[in-house]
Amino acid sequence: MKKYSWEEFARLMGVEPQVLENKEARLLKKFVDEVTWPTHCNYCQGLDLSNPNPVHHPSYELTPACNHDCIFCYSNVAVKLGKAPKPGYYGWDNPKAITVSQYGEPLLSPRIVEVNKMLRKRFPDARLDLQTNGSLLTRELWEKLDFDVVMISLDAATREKHKMITNADTFDAVVNALKIVGEDKSVVSAVRTIFMPGINDEDIPKIAELAASLGIDEMFLQPLTIHELNVERLRKAGLDFERAESIREFLKAAMEAKKYIDVRIGGCLLVQLKQMDPLTLFSVRRVAREVVPLVKRSKLEL
Ligand code: SF4
Repeated sequence: MKKYSWEEFARLMGVEPQVLENKEARLLKKFVDEVTWPTHCNYCQGLDLSNPNPVHHPSYELTPACNHDCIFCYSNVAVKLGKAPKPGYYGWDNPKAITVSQYGEPLLSPRIVEVNKMLRKRFPDARLDLQTNGSLLTRELWEKLDFDVVMISLDAATREKHKMITNADTFDAVVNALKIVGEDKSVVSAVRTIFMPGINDEDIPKIAELAASLGIDEMFLQPLTIHELNVERLRKAGLDFERAESIREFLKAAMEAKKYIDVRIGGCLLVQLKQMDPLTLFSVRRVAREVVPLVKRSKLEL
């Protein structure tokens, strides 16, 4: 008996087989192959796929307080749930990198300069990363600080939308901070942006263009994590929850931004995406919901 190929058999049954050419999937794959993670992610355990329980870099927490009240913020959620870390160092001896800070706005603390100096002295070989909303960064303060990587959050390209997202009228101050840091070529500078489809799609390329024009080195684009306590605020702001879970939508936003700036994707997500084939990248979804944001490292007295 003749053995038919599946194509021949399909034709016999009246179905014309077509090999689907998914051009977009191939473009996503090419982009993922080429893109790398932000400088901030170097040395993070999240890059190691063989580690079943990776934790973030060590961090020094200065304050859980913040002068912004962002609609997506995990730090706010942690404060409301009484889970925000107390000030101090969360990590181990001989760290390769320390983030100041993971929670709250570190520049609100009057101890920022003193803690910055203490960390340099105590851990001379560690990379020091500042993570800030930028609104309190002045030239005068910048002269006193000493970091290797500076990440400034910006999620909107206009004053009005920035106010809607952060509940603070600080757009000009944040842009000024990007300018101060972008001009200083002794540090690696990054604009840190959360992709919130339905809210800031059209802002992403504009933020990328603005940041690049101010001398910022990288855009650290992140997908949104939706904390239960923020759901209502995000809904009111117009979040498209469906698209917020789509890797394809996230990668499309990153590809747009890449036209203007060196866009980067968080290492712990990127190492997984790099394992995927084009069609998986095209269709895979991520779990965007999380309940309580916790520090998974122990406090160490310095
Ligand atoms: S984004 Fe992921 S890999 Fe990068 S520093 Fe954070 S936890 Fe680590």
